[in-house]
Amino acid sequence: MKKRQQETDFSLLELDPASVVDDTLLSDPNWAYDIVMSGELRETCPECAGHRLQLVAQQKGVTRTCLFCDQCNRWFDACHADGRSALAQI
Ligand SMILES: [Zn+2]
Repeated sequence: MKKRQQETDFSLLELDPASVVDDTLLSDPNWAYDIVMSGELRETCPECAGHRLQLVAQQKGVTRTCLFCDQCNRWFDACHADGRSALAQI
């Protein structure tokens, strides 16, 4: 395997919550508390200065792996410079 570059340049793309979380989960006003986070990332939320994003794997009510800000409840995808999702490989 090739050695990975130290710096990974992801661009964050904000996602519509409805495209990530299913209606059943979204209908619960406390849905954010039910999300199981897989870990904190180096990437920070563009909206919340310095607040790190959480990695959320596909799970009940969550249709795909994505990044989540537990402060503003925004969802993000991480894209490589060529536009491919970096999370599709996880
Ligand atoms: Zn945020």
